[in-house]
Amino acid sequence: MIFPIVLYGDPVLNKRAVDFDKSENDTIQKLVLDMFETMYQARGVGLAAPQIGISKRIFVVDGAALDKKECKDFKKVFINPTILEETGKEWEFEEGCLSIPGIREYIGRQESLTLHYFDENWSEFTETFVGMQARIIQHEYDHLEGLLFTDRISGFKKRLLQGKLNKLKKGITDADYKVKMTLKK
Ligand code: ZN
Repeated sequence: MIFPIVLYGDPVLNKRAVDFDKSENDTIQKLVLDMFETMYQARGVGLAAPQIGISKRIFVVDGAALDKKECKDFKKVFINPTILEETGKEWEFEEGCLSIPGIREYIGRQESLTLHYFDENWSEFTETFVGMQARIIQHEYDHLEGLLFTDRISGFKKRLLQGKLNKLKKGITDADYKVKMTLKK
């Protein structure tokens, strides 16, 4: 099932998501399929559950669309992830987000991270990722912490974007995938 994607301004995007319990496995299996389907139709390389309105600690990635060698086979499910360590020099890259269509910004992130997580079979991993793989994880992990890339830019840059962000808050976007409007009083 394709979910509509929650847009900037929806409070679910600013909330820290909570862990899954193993007893929720049936829900998770269905959710994983739906999240990949939703991500692919929107042509994203990552999708976190809060972006479909579910405040749970899961995200899926598939870097194939990036056309970068190191991301070609980077298709994974991350359940209950915790970043244990981030290291290396900060580097900038222009990021986009399915919840913030039409806006891209250069964001600085450290080049490597070590993550503890479970995959969709509840196998447990402690794994280190670098470069573009690390960046995709850092971006999606931020969603689980209630952060967006717009929280990582300067106040000056954010003021420049305010007009566009206010439009998104009202549900005004030309995104070519289904989005969910935040109802404003
Ligand atoms: Zn995002």
